[in-house]
Parts: sequence; structure tokens; C-alpha cells
Amino acid sequence: MTFTANRRRLLQFGALASAGLTAAPAFAAQPADRKMGYAIMGLGTYADVILPRFAECRHSRVTALVSGSMEKARRYAAQYGVPDRGLYTYDTFDSIRDNPEVDIVYVILPNGLHHEYTLRAAAAGKHVMCEKPMANTAAEAEAMIAACRAADRKLMIGYRSHFESNNREAIRVARSGELGKLRIVTAETGFNIGDPTQWRLNRALAGGGSMMDIGIYSLQAARYLTGEEPVSVSAVESTDRTDIRFKEVEDTINFLLKFPSGVVADCVSTYGSAHNRYRIVGTGGWLDAEPATAYRGNSLKLWKDGQTAAHPAPDLATNQFSGMLDHLSQCVMTGSEPIVAGEEGLRDMRIIEAIYASAREGRTIIL
Ligand code: NAD
Repeated sequence: MTFTANRRRLLQFGALASAGLTAAPAFAAQPADRKMGYAIMGLGTYADVILPRFAECRHSRVTALVSGSMEKARRYAAQYGVPDRGLYTYDTFDSIRDNPEVDIVYVILPNGLHHEYTLRAAAAGKHVMCEKPMANTAAEAEAMIAACRAADRKLMIGYRSHFESNNREAIRVARSGELGKLRIVTAETGFNIGDPTQWRLNRALAGGGSMMDIGIYSLQAARYLTGEEPVSVSAVESTDRTDIRFKEVEDTINFLLKFPSGVVADCVSTYGSAHNRYRIVGTGGWLDAEPATAYRGNSLKLWKDGQTAAHPAPDLATNQFSGMLDHLSQCVMTGSEPIVAGEEGLRDMRIIEAIYASAREGRTIIL
């Protein structure tokens, strides 16, 4: 793709964004040396993905770590240049209120702990980035929004795909009319889950099974590609309860979402096999993403006028991780609302609860 073509697509995206048609992050001008301090809470697998990305951030840095083990926290501190005064356990966490180097707490704990630690972070006067799914229930999500609002703190959910170039391009194409009138979205996300003792298979810590963890990406895609909210859901669950992994949570859920324009999204969520794709089909063509929401290597394919071709996304100045981290920092600095604020997490939680109810009761739920 030429520079001019790339630039033209970026400008088109910008025009859509300013018309409120896409989820466009704030890119307000900021002094280059102003960086918001993040406390990373939970030093597990995903924290290992996030921590190195601060090196690419323009407005964010790591200034604190929260871990159950001080020995582990010190090891990470040495690697990421975090001072001793920024190290906390879950027991000492509330004293973070006295640390002026921490602006934002990033909660990367098992889902069942998001609610408690978001409330504690807000009570300590800190803004919050919280991982998906936002909480175990919609009621918890509502309480998190209320607590952050009462403390006048920002709350953002770690929906990184909104900051990833292929997903942003897919949103632009889907909403531009290039595919004609949108008809169908198909979205599949899943993996074959291993260790039966992990927290993802524990109801109290995970809130549910594949739907909470990975199916939420299919739900998100259906919503951000169409830009609409579903009016009804129908779901079917398939779980082998004799499988030792699925004593407490579900394996597979197939769900249909109907949108006001008539678009239907047909989605798969599973802990049984590997899926990471979506396709949006209109009267004049389709756009395919596979992998769709991976950490790297996402790609798009477009079918139009009888031809299928790879569809490159415009280069963004940031990657999905640094884009996401810097977005919240910029929102804090400018007083603007994150494009994926707590309310966005709550919308998903409400729909997920309806999906569970539909599967349980064997009927379509009107939202
Ligand atoms: P993980 O198990 O690898 O890490 C969880 C961390 O929490 C560990 O360091 C663990 O010690 C700590 N912890 C504290 N209290 C705990 C308790 N009572 N039980 C278990 N662990 C406890 O999990 P992860 O894969 O890093 O997931 C953490 C969160 O991040 C989840 O909400 C998950 O959905 C989310 N996540 C998001 C993405 C993404 O792409 N956005 C990817 C992976 C995970």
C-alpha cells in the first residue's frame, strides 16, 4: 500500500470517527515528558504480556506492582525499573493512596476479584484499568461504575481490540457501506483449555466458563462491527459434565444476537477447540478476519466484485497494547471518557447474563 493510500484511509477513518461512527481513541496533544504512573496488580500470564509494552508508551509508565509474593514483586521490579516504594501485597494495597507516583491501577486478576480491587483502587483515589470480563455479574459491574464515579475516577476495560489496526479497519469497512447493507456477522472464539485446576474453571473466580473468558470477544466483535446493540439473544450450551474440566463452568455456547437493523450475529464460544475469526457479510461483499483478535498477526481478507484479496489495515502509530494504555492516560490527563469505559463492560455483562439465561431456559431473551 502506498503512503498516499494509507493516509487516505486514515483520513477516512478520522472523518468517520469525528462523525461519531467509530470508536476513535483520543489523541490529544500532551507534553512529551508527562507520563501517568500505572500500578500493575496481579503478576500472571497477561501481566507478562502487558509489562513489556510500557516501553512503547508515550504517556504511561509502570511505577508500582501488586503481588501476593514480595519476592516475585522484587524480581519484576528489577526487570521493569520499579522502585521499592512502589511494591505492595494485597494486604498493604490500600496504602497505595499515599503514593503520588501511582495514577492508575491496572487490575489483571482472576475475574472474580475485579470487583473488590476496583472498589479498593477507587477508594484509594486511583483511576482503574480493569481486565475483561469486567466482573462476575452485571450487578458487580454496576457497583464498580458507581464507586469510580463517586470517587471521580476513570474506569476503563482492557478491550485491546479497539486499539488494534485490523479491528479498527474492520469497523471502518463494516460501517462505511463498502459491503452494501450488512446482513450477517459470524464470530468464533475459543481454545482447548488444559489444566482442570486453573481458576478459569472455578466458578467463584471466573464467574462462568468460555463465555466470560473468550466468547466475550465474539460478542464484542458483533457489537463493534455493527455499532449496534442487540435486541434479542438465543443461546444453546453444550457441555460434557463428565469432563473433569467442566464441573463448575460451561464449555461451549452458540449464541445468536439480533440487531435493530436486521443484522444477525451467529457466534461461537468454546473451551474445546481453537477459533479466532469473524466475518461480516453485506449485500455487496464480505470482510473476513483471521486471526481476528490475537496479540499479533491479525489479518483481513475482503471479497467484493467477485474477487477475494488480502486487505491491509493502515499502520497506526501505536500497537493495541500501548494504544490502550496511553488512551487511559490521556483520558486522565484531559478529563475525557475512555472509548471503552466501565459502561461498555457493563453492556457486555448484561448481554452475557441474557445469553446464560437463554441457554438455561431454552428460549429467546428480549433485551
Ligand atoms: P493468571 O492466572 O495467569 O494470572 C492471575 C494472577 O492473579 C496471578 O499472578 C495470581 O497469582 C494472581 N492472583 C491473586 N489472587 C488470586 C487468587 N485468589 N486466585 C488465583 N490467582 C490469584 O491469569 P491471566 O491469564 O493473567 O488473567 C488475568 C485477567 O486478565 C483475567 O481477568 C483475564 O480474563 C484477563 N486476560 C485478558 C487478556 C486480554 O487479551 N485482554 C488475556 C489474558 C487474560
